[in-house]
Amino acid sequence: MKEWQEKSSRLFVNTYGRFPVVMESGSGCRLTDTEGREYLDFLAGIAVCSLGHCYPPVTEAICAQAAKLVHVSNLFHTIPQTELAELLVENSFADRIFLANSGAEVNEAAIKLARKYGGDQRFEIISLEGSFHGRTLATVAATGQKKFHQGFEPLPAGFVYAPFDDFDRLAGMVSEKTCAVLCEPLQGEGGVRPLAKEYLEGIRKLCDKHDLLLIFDEVQVGMGRTGSLFAYEQFGVIPDILTSAKALGNGLPIGAMLATEKAAASFMPGDHASTFGGNPVACAGAVVVLQTMLAENFFSEVLEKGEYLQEKLLAVSREFPDLTNGARGMGLIRGLVLTEKGRAGGGEIVNRLFEKQVLANFAGNAVIRFIPPLVVNKEEIDEMVDRLCDVLAGF
Ligand SMILES: *Cc1c(COP(=O)(O)O)cnc(C)c1O
Repeated sequence: MKEWQEKSSRLFVNTYGRFPVVMESGSGCRLTDTEGREYLDFLAGIAVCSLGHCYPPVTEAICAQAAKLVHVSNLFHTIPQTELAELLVENSFADRIFLANSGAEVNEAAIKLARKYGGDQRFEIISLEGSFHGRTLATVAATGQKKFHQGFEPLPAGFVYAPFDDFDRLAGMVSEKTCAVLCEPLQGEGGVRPLAKEYLEGIRKLCDKHDLLLIFDEVQVGMGRTGSLFAYEQFGVIPDILTSAKALGNGLPIGAMLATEKAAASFMPGDHASTFGGNPVACAGAVVVLQTMLAENFFSEVLEKGEYLQEKLLAVSREFPDLTNGARGMGLIRGLVLTEKGRAGGGEIVNRLFEKQVLANFAGNAVIRFIPPLVVNKEEIDEMVDRLCDVLAGF
């Protein structure tokens, strides 16, 4: 294992702070490294492998499609991508879909669509402080966190950031240049912070009043993570555009932009494109992901297990009041909130969890984030919480 790690560290551009491990295989909520050590996975490849690692029906669909047709580009129609689009349209507010390969790419598509919608004069997009929208230049510019901007200026113009949960300040930023408001219904990287329902309702009304598009970035919290297919359903606020990616393919690289007819009508043939977007293999996997999640009881179980995890984390918080201060989130995206002392040791808490073979991460310099596969069971939650208590007791 050491040799592979050393080779990897030497060969790649040094952009990642990786855990000192080489992962080899996975099943359900467990990952196994090259030494045969098993890890309890409460990260799921960053909210990606929601049906668990190597979910057999997805693997079967991938293999079958790979044997039939891997790629033809979007110069042609294919059945898997049309099936996927139909499932997304039938189960959301959307009338039309654009497919790409990642979260940043579908956010780029949404930004471009909003600018086309705005016309020549309206190009500015309001996003929120603490947000995260991706690592391409435009999505970095859309991200309301300075640390992601530093070193990459000048960034594409046309993005302004509203303070979190302050409707009046946001409303005050709307001008004759504004074309859209972009936000995550629950900020993931920003520290598992849900937006208030009234705040989102206010933003919806504001968008209607000024003819702005409301874009929800559900790259992380869509696809069942919060206990409904998309988070917006639980807020009762319907966007004009929604972006989905992470869990859409259960590990296959795929992203979808969902849009109303009215918003989508601003894109004409030739306005936007992707060579790989809607790749048949990725789409065949995503079709199975959607079919699985839409089966009866899937979301009610996510909600129930999410409540269970929340209660357990609250109990942990009561046991360690000097390090932790409550827990927050929705469904199976939960953050154990750290106190100032806890934050100072946040990275170290995650490292010690790793030593105890539990995978989680430190998000938004505020919380230990738990985003397990949605198929996690209560025994696995108990096991994780026991090891978490062991770690916190050693601090
Ligand atoms: C991860 C993430 C992205 C970026 O997705 P990539 O697939 O890494 O490009 C964008 N928005 C949100 C909310 C995310 O969590």
